[in-house]
Amino acid sequence: MKSKSLKKDKVNIITLGCSKNLVDSEVLSGQLAANEIDVVHENKKLDHNIVVVNTCGFIDKAKEESINTILDQLELKRRGKLDKVYVTGCLSERYRNDLENEMPDVDAWFGTLELPLILKQFDADYKTELLGERLLSTPKHYAYLKISEGCNRTCSFCAIPLMRGQHVSKPIEELVKEAESLVQKGVKEIMLIAQELTYYGLDIYKKRELPKLLNALADVKGLEWIRLHYAYPSKFPLEILDVMRKRENICKYLDMPLQHASNNMLNAMKRNITRDEMSVLIKQIREKVPGICLRTTLITGFPGETKDDVEELKAFLQEHRFDRVGIFQYSHEENTSAYDLVDNISSEEKELRAQEIMEVQQEISLEKNQEKVGQILKVIIDKKEAGRYLGRTEFDSVEVDNEVVIHSKKKLMIGDFVNVKITKAYDYDIEGEMIE
Ligand code: SF4
Repeated sequence: MKSKSLKKDKVNIITLGCSKNLVDSEVLSGQLAANEIDVVHENKKLDHNIVVVNTCGFIDKAKEESINTILDQLELKRRGKLDKVYVTGCLSERYRNDLENEMPDVDAWFGTLELPLILKQFDADYKTELLGERLLSTPKHYAYLKISEGCNRTCSFCAIPLMRGQHVSKPIEELVKEAESLVQKGVKEIMLIAQELTYYGLDIYKKRELPKLLNALADVKGLEWIRLHYAYPSKFPLEILDVMRKRENICKYLDMPLQHASNNMLNAMKRNITRDEMSVLIKQIREKVPGICLRTTLITGFPGETKDDVEELKAFLQEHRFDRVGIFQYSHEENTSAYDLVDNISSEEKELRAQEIMEVQQEISLEKNQEKVGQILKVIIDKKEAGRYLGRTEFDSVEVDNEVVIHSKKKLMIGDFVNVKITKAYDYDIEGEMIE
């Protein structure tokens, strides 16, 4: 890394946490670039002199990672390798006062909604005409599309509303424009993200408008896959499924975090839904969209979770056989309503319970993968690694889901779609031959 002597500033953005944060970093870099400031993401060449750390404050582990990253950057600054270290994002929003005192060498702290202030720091203007424009940090063929910010729910464990505020939907026309501009840049797949997808529209249109948005996005020419992340199960608008079934470019894929299955836990988590209601919903989803890939995320070790609750969750997984499952261990977050409860499960026990649940899921996942052997599936090529091509089907999202290992005699292009005949199945991945 060069020292402070760079003639022109070069900014490196380091992003921690989720895809929503990534989109914020992309918007920030788009604005900086439009102001003719040299900007890069996760710069490996280390030839920058300014760093912006976009932090995550979601759970303990994420906070620790963010703090360590800031400390590493401050060390580089102390050694004269950097001129400035700025910090933004969720951690900064949530703990700015404490952090300012603990890390006085950080040059400035910003909250999650303070993009214009960050730009001011660089003597750059906030260009409103660039609405939705950003410098993508993902491979050219896919991108995230954030359809709203914030969340109006009150799940007792969740600190997100403290950091991201109340739900604000982006208008449909704006999102369509953003999707069109992404397609022009070569994007073929977009992943719709929000803290709570199904609430979309209630604030600005006074009704749930996700189905209308989906139809509008499905009309965007060149958009081959549209994928839905983070649906809330209570009062789920079933019309979404009609659109999914009818529109070919909406992936038969739904990521719906359920968090738990025992009524005790659902109640304590303030999820506004019961186990039976979730069961009915899952059946409706599978009936309306046959073959849909259902992903969910769960929490283990919430205060008061008993062994019976864990058994009930395992039985629920056996019954509904989710295609994909992710697990978080409960993190006791101040200023959430669950913080008033006693965090009575040790971290070892939380981990053990998470493992037990994943063992149940591993078997289900293997069985589901085995069912795919012999099938021909459409696959998007994501990368080439160790001489093998790796891709995904419409049933797999980026980073969190399964991969397809593709054998091909022909050279394949990253971002292309190919047909693959599946020949082998593993716990979480599948393998096959490309067919012409
Ligand atoms: S719906 Fe999701 S983001 Fe909103 S409070 Fe609940 S867990 Fe948090």
